[in-house]
Amino acid sequence: MTETDPPTDISHRSKLPMLLWATLGVCMSYSAPIIATIVYDNQPYDPRLTTHWGFACLFTVGSRRILFDTGANGAILLANLAQMDIDPQAIDMIVVSHYHSDHTGGLLTALPTIADGRDRAVTVLVPRSFPDEIKQDAGRYAAVVDVNHPITLGGSVYTTGELGQKNTEQSLALETADGLIVITGCAHSGIVEVASQARRWGEIALVMGGFHLKDAAAADIKKVIEGLRKLGVKKVAPSHCTGQLAIRMFAREYGRDFIPAGAGAQIMVGQPRAHAHASD
Ligand SMILES: [Zn+2]
Ligand SMILES: [Zn+2]
Repeated sequence: MTETDPPTDISHRSKLPMLLWATLGVCMSYSAPIIATIVYDNQPYDPRLTTHWGFACLFTVGSRRILFDTGANGAILLANLAQMDIDPQAIDMIVVSHYHSDHTGGLLTALPTIADGRDRAVTVLVPRSFPDEIKQDAGRYAAVVDVNHPITLGGSVYTTGELGQKNTEQSLALETADGLIVITGCAHSGIVEVASQARRWGEIALVMGGFHLKDAAAADIKKVIEGLRKLGVKKVAPSHCTGQLAIRMFAREYGRDFIPAGAGAQIMVGQPRAHAHASD
């Protein structure tokens, strides 16, 4: 997937008069697919990209580009974006999961390039608990929004708001025709907790990102896998702080529904399709 080959955004069809749809006698329901591109990860995948401790993932949602987390180092982030032919100035929103340097370190160094003189064209969403000086520095280039409670970011993209007590963290849920993509930075409040919060917006097609199980024992990892199964999570793409033992266990348990993830991996969810049913 490159900038020259964006997925078709067919959301404009809702602007067609209802009368036309009634005349057709069907109600068409479309969703454009969402592409998740992991642009920063300590987990290797595409050898062209630099692997480095941290996490960042770019979502292509129609014509929108949402960057979730910024890795530890802005230069590596920008180099990895360039390696994948992704124009940093196409990014219009940055969501930062939590205040740990492996997720925020790239923010202030990459933001001037991403904003590139576009006055407040970029929105940066941070947990409310973020230090004021980071919000102020980011505010020189972008519109900074504090997030506390679960909110919609428009176009069927949602944030869980701040979860957890100690390392307060937000995760994203993005709606597709196949169900939700749920992404976490480190899931410090627990990946099962994050997924169960996201269930309010629908069935979960995919959980990806850092599951924070790197120091967990096999018995605890097994419980987490069971918890996600119970919530109906169809596919998983764990990376970053998930840990090698947990990644192996998820691969064994989920089989074909385990998606290998790491720096440079691209995952598409929600093929465009139409449901036709009689309208009355
Ligand atoms: Zn963390
Ligand atoms: Zn982390």
